[in-house]
Amino acid sequence: MKTETLALPGATPGVSIGLTVLRFGQSGARPKIYVQAGLHADESPGHLAAQSLRRRLEALEAEGRIAGEVVLVPVANPIGLSQRVNGVFHGRFDMADGGNFNRHFPNLTEATAAAIAGRLGRDEAANAELVRSALKAALADVPARTPTEGLKKHLLAEAVDADVVLDIHCDSEAVMHLYTLTPQAEAFAPLSALLGARAMLLATESGDDPFDEAVSRPWFELRRRFPDAPIPLGGLSTTLELRGQADVTEAYADADAAAIVDFLVLRGAVSGPAPAIPDAACRPTPLAGSQALEAPCPGIIVFHREAGDVVSTGDVVATLVDPVSGARTPVPARTDGVLYARCGTRFAHAGKRLGKIAGDTPIRTGKLLSP
Ligand SMILES: [Zn+2]
Repeated sequence: MKTETLALPGATPGVSIGLTVLRFGQSGARPKIYVQAGLHADESPGHLAAQSLRRRLEALEAEGRIAGEVVLVPVANPIGLSQRVNGVFHGRFDMADGGNFNRHFPNLTEATAAAIAGRLGRDEAANAELVRSALKAALADVPARTPTEGLKKHLLAEAVDADVVLDIHCDSEAVMHLYTLTPQAEAFAPLSALLGARAMLLATESGDDPFDEAVSRPWFELRRRFPDAPIPLGGLSTTLELRGQADVTEAYADADAAAIVDFLVLRGAVSGPAPAIPDAACRPTPLAGSQALEAPCPGIIVFHREAGDVVSTGDVVATLVDPVSGARTPVPARTDGVLYARCGTRFAHAGKRLGKIAGDTPIRTGKLLSP
């Protein structure tokens, strides 16, 4: 394992922040796997799973079993990890400007398309290499003045030429679930099954350029733009939600890391016998079919259903209780599906998202992710 610390731009003189990158196997070997944990910094389940994964990768490397290259960033957001206000940890939004740390990554499609136009041939592998080089060159031109811009650029630079990218997050209170591009569902089905995921949310564009789509969507879009040239669906990328923020146990971390290693064996990055893949605990559903259960009024949140429960349209998932009048407002499901996530607090201002239900039928358009 090689450890490298990348310096982020300083916000003020005398302040420096480093991003630690762990490298396994041979630089340039294929497949290249990129894994990062905690892009929203208050996501300890992924941080702990990354440590279990690191131990496993060190042991595999000692046995000579890293066939490709594996890059692990165990703390993907050292900026967010340092953010506290009056003792309360805030990891989702950048306190410098309010931006969500997992939005507005550079969209490299246009610059890459311009660079490869007229240079694609009949050889798919050669085209893939051309796309990777163009993606890296396009990213090199993106300015990075602030610590967060520098962080995003470093993270994407490590991932943009990878064959497989795992971006490990968690939700507030949740069961295991993942997000990926619709055409990548088949590629990640084994990982979903190995992790025991209860929901797999699919979209071709979620909105606002999250990290996983900054890696995967250029390949998807370049294939559409150059239909006559063979371009693989490279940059396979998924956002893994390792349950809820408080679901931090060694048992979960070890099981999740073991599942990831099994997936790396399936992808050929780690040598060894193919693992048995359990039956899937869910089937993919459209992200546009995920109901965001919203509070129609303020109130104390009293949940009637647990994360992971299967609910039907009309089931009352929560009741909002007005703490002054005592008025009670039921909040029903508007779709059938798995209640895969709930909010972590128990008071709602009007409009608050209380939970998410993975339904089969598209019911939303536009930006599909939580703010
Ligand atoms: Zn997150």
